[in-house]
Amino acid sequence: MFDKPAFAGHESVHHFYDSASGLRAIIAIHSTARGPAAGGCRMWNYDTADAAFVDALRLSEGMSYKNAMADLPLGGGKAVIWGNSRTDKTPEKFRALGRAIESLQGKYWSAEDVGVSPADMAFAAENTRYVAGLSTGKAASGDPSPVTARGVFLGLKATAARVFGTDDLNGKRVAVQGVGHVGADVCRHLAKAGAEIIVTDVNQDALNEIARETGAKVASPDEIYDAKVDIFSPNALGAVVNPATIHRLNAKVIAGGANNQLSTPDMGEELLHRGILYAPDYVINGGGIINVAAEIAGAYDPAWVEGKVQKLVETLGMVLDQARSEGRATNRVADEIARRRIGESA
Ligand code: NAD
Repeated sequence: MFDKPAFAGHESVHHFYDSASGLRAIIAIHSTARGPAAGGCRMWNYDTADAAFVDALRLSEGMSYKNAMADLPLGGGKAVIWGNSRTDKTPEKFRALGRAIESLQGKYWSAEDVGVSPADMAFAAENTRYVAGLSTGKAASGDPSPVTARGVFLGLKATAARVFGTDDLNGKRVAVQGVGHVGADVCRHLAKAGAEIIVTDVNQDALNEIARETGAKVASPDEIYDAKVDIFSPNALGAVVNPATIHRLNAKVIAGGANNQLSTPDMGEELLHRGILYAPDYVINGGGIINVAAEIAGAYDPAWVEGKVQKLVETLGMVLDQARSEGRATNRVADEIARRRIGESA
């Protein structure tokens, strides 16, 4: 662990193997300085165990930053299950994961992530109380996507205001990449605000449905990068801002819910040089973890969630303003503030 480039002062990494179910899982705890480490469980068919290990290190560090920027009393952690989420899932694997989480005695709270659903995590929850994002139960917070999308929409407005001098989106052209749980809701907010929307997705049904509902125009997954728009909102994949796409973007604002939008951190400087204002992904998409945090707190309180989302948007504004006054990339400023917040709590 200490030799990995992805090692960032992680507190501990735990490897679990359950022979009965075949579960192979890693739980990485980056930091508990601000509170118990929290972050979802990802199931992915990694090529090697080492790739799973590195992903757990990287994702858990990212959760520390996200939780700090959302001003939550939570540290950063992540679970990864090594396996194919389409063919290898069994209730027994998730029950074994629950026992693994329980063995950490509350140092790590889990929830769903890529490849894992609330229904899967319900099996884990049979064996541990340290699972949130569930659909049922005393403090169940359910699907976090609507809160993520609300945060993304408000953050998009705050970013647009700094570029266009107004947060009025009426008539603004917005390209939305991905109309899944988060992207579809972002489209609904945008449509209400009078924006002209261009959408893309690889899922044709989802695309047609949201186009019908919001009047959005449809583009192919590749065409979206060339769309003549004011704002680009990535809500599908990571690494969509990369050396092959960056020169194609016409937008002046990038603001969306997808995780890890920049292929490498130096894309932040590239965007700065191109005059594109980027809302750092893990700041603008913190609504989901805020929703989960309400469940971890033991009683779901919508007013508390809304207050935290409002504060998240203020924090995003602070990052954007500091980056502008210092002439630096927004992602670098966000990283710096997140590290300071974690350090101050240590
Ligand atoms: P989702 O799976 O519901 O939606 C993703 C959508 O992207 C799908 O409709 C999929 O078909 C589409 N897609 C896949 N490949 C594509 C491509 N090449 N071009 C265009 N579209 C493509 O996932 P989601 O929950 O909406 O999450 C979207 C993003 O936001 C992810 O990066 C996720 O990690 C991030 N995120 C989600 C939440 C949340 O609360 N759900 C919170 C924080 C971050």
